[in-house]
Amino acid sequence: MSTLTVSGLCVNVGETEILKGVDLEVSSGEVHVIMGPNGAGKSTLSNVIMGRPGYEVVAGSVTLDGVDLLALETWERAQAGMFLAMQYPTEVPGVSVESVMVESFTAAGLSPVGVDQLLRAEADRIGFDSRFLERALNVDLSGGEKKRNETVQLGVLRPKIAILDELDSGLDIDALRACSSRVEAMTNENQLGVLAITHYNRLLHELRADHIHILVKGSIVESGGPELATELERDGYARFATAGSDDASASVDGIDPFLDPLL
Ligand code: ADP
Ligand code: MG
Repeated sequence: MSTLTVSGLCVNVGETEILKGVDLEVSSGEVHVIMGPNGAGKSTLSNVIMGRPGYEVVAGSVTLDGVDLLALETWERAQAGMFLAMQYPTEVPGVSVESVMVESFTAAGLSPVGVDQLLRAEADRIGFDSRFLERALNVDLSGGEKKRNETVQLGVLRPKIAILDELDSGLDIDALRACSSRVEAMTNENQLGVLAITHYNRLLHELRADHIHILVKGSIVESGGPELATELERDGYARFATAGSDDASASVDGIDPFLDPLL
């Protein structure tokens, strides 16, 4: 049993406050979902948990089973059991997904023998053509193919806690169903804990949410059960529009600096 604990997390980018005291606890086997308007700070939260440079943590903590993740390098966080499926997966020319998996296993002190079969089995499970696995990591893949590639890696790496930043963006209906049901299976078979960021209830048809949290302008303004996602899909964020602080930097139409024009 593992627990990711985010406590009083405040994060700045440059002079701007993006996260303003976020509290969250995700344990093995649980599915927590963060929903919120564009620019609310959802990707900032996932990037900070995983250690992407460029963010300043000004207060609060992030721990996995009591271990201070913020003191660790990104690769050490991965070794501790964290995984991030990025909103815009990075292209790494010249490096195959298989070499990345082999290196990950080796770094974790595991034998990489059979990683190629594992990759193919995971690709098969979500109906992802294994010829994509031969390409350099994410290079020349469509947005949806990148997301499926992330799901394959998640299945191979078997982390304790996975953060899925808009895994559904770019996925067609069939791929969405395959990926979300694969993640759901991992929560049951491997006790994977999930922090999923999404705009759409459709991700939650197969992946069963235990808790929904609404992030507006850097603060969680409401938490509840799956019915909250249904309500949001119906009514949008209007009810929460005045919640949180009125910092204009986290406006609903904030521009995402990592926006990938291919997606
Ligand atoms: P979300 O994922 O909820 O759409 P983000 O976390 O990507 O939101 O961004 C939150 C706010 O922080 C946005 O206004 C965005 O423009 C800003 N922001 C995030 N990262 C950076 C950065 N590296 N440099 C400048 N602004 C950033
Ligand atoms: Mg985002």
